[in-house]
Order: sequence, then structure tokens, then C-alpha cells
Amino acid sequence: MKKKLIVGNWKMNGSLAANQALVRGVLDGLEGLQVNAAVCAPNVYLSQIQAMLHDQRALDLGAQDVSMHEQGAYTGEISADMLREFGIRYVVVGHSERRQYHGEQDLHVALKAQCALQAGITPIVCVGETLTERRAGGTEEVVKRQLAAVIQTNGHCISEVVVAYEPVWAIGTGLTATPEEAQQVHSVLRHQLNAATAQAARISILYGGSMNATNALTLLNQPDIDGGLIGGAALKASDFLAIMAAASQCATAS
Ligand code: PEP
Repeated sequence: MKKKLIVGNWKMNGSLAANQALVRGVLDGLEGLQVNAAVCAPNVYLSQIQAMLHDQRALDLGAQDVSMHEQGAYTGEISADMLREFGIRYVVVGHSERRQYHGEQDLHVALKAQCALQAGITPIVCVGETLTERRAGGTEEVVKRQLAAVIQTNGHCISEVVVAYEPVWAIGTGLTATPEEAQQVHSVLRHQLNAATAQAARISILYGGSMNATNALTLLNQPDIDGGLIGGAALKASDFLAIMAAASQCATAS
């Protein structure tokens, strides 16, 4: 089995001192784990963390958003080329908090993914339904529509993305999709990717939504769950490491 990918999304959390302690703690515990790992930090801290990660390969650095424009008069925006200068490997695009609070729509997400890919950065494309959409039986339609926009804009490059299924109702709420519920949606996404590219096998599909040390192993053991996008539990080294240990256990058991 390929190694699982565990990505921490710090959201708008951290400080110079807290980041130092968190990254140090994660690096100290990562040794020997069979896992691909990354942390997505607020942009102002990328340079601090890049410096901390420069002499190792166990932990990659990511950002939480990127502009859909290449450069120019877009006050407050950060371009993919700028991120690349800070050694960024991944960037989250289409997180539900961006869709909800910043009006991002499917096309914006698709264009952001395109900018990232053109800069050699792997976009982590988030898709997921709200509770209302789930209750109305619309989960599959919603996630397929969200992913279709990214596939359509990015053509054969789609094989270079990471997808994250994040049910909106499970993010930061303590509610988690059951392993079966998550697997069902992952399998829909897998089929959609298979239909889009012959290279779909290389695409990791992460689950995100209140993943923690207790539920990680059963979620990560599902056949189409290739890793996790972790919010709250990525802010404490011991919690984040426990999820990575579960991921490592899945890789070594196979
Ligand atoms: C997230 O922000 O992507 C996320 C999954 O958050 P949490 O793990 O806190 O639900």
C-alpha cells in the first residue's frame, strides 16, 4: 500500500513561539513513521517554518490558500509563484471556510488549483457537502459537481492534485463521518477521477472532518481513504503524531 498522506491545516492559529514548539515536537516524533506528512501554516509564518524544515524531508510545508491570479493589482493576495519561493509543496484550495466566508465558487477553486499546478505546487482540492445537502440526499451530486469543475479546468494535470473529502458538518464540530459514510463518498470520487485520467491511481483522496487519535485508524483503514486533512488535532504535536502513527500502522500492515 502507498504511504498515507497526513496534512495539518493550522487555519488562523499559531505564533512564532507556538509554531516553533509545535514543529519541533512533530519533527521529534516523526522518525520511523511510514507516512507522508505536511503542515499548512498561515502565510506570514511560512518563512519561519521553511527555515525549520530545510534540512529534513519527513515534513513538507503547505499554504492554506492561493490567488487565482498570476500577479498584479490584487491587494492582499498571494500568488502561487510567491508560495513556491518559500518551498511550498502543497496548497489547500476550496476549503469550506473559504467557500463559506469568502464566497469562493467552484470556478474560483478550479482556477486556484490551476495556478498552483502551473507553479509546481500540489493543490489539495477540498470538496464536501453541508448538513442540509446531506439530509436532502445531495452529497454525491455536490462533491461530484465541485470536483468536476477542477477536472474540467485542469485537464490531464488533474493527476497531480490531491483531493480532500471534507463534509462541512464534520469540520471543527467533533462530528465525524462514519468510516462507511466516508468510504462511500471516497469511492464516488475515485470513480470520477478514474473516468477523468488514466493516472488516477496516483491521486490521494484525504478525509477531513474532526479526525483525531481515536477515529483515525478505522477511517484510514478504508480502501479509498489515502490520508487525512487535519484541523484541530494538528495543533498539538502529540495528537497530530498519534494520527500519523495510525497512518503508519495502515501502511506497514498492508
Ligand atoms: C479542516 O479544517 O480541514 C478540518 C478538517 O478541521 P477539523 O479537523 O478541526 O475538523
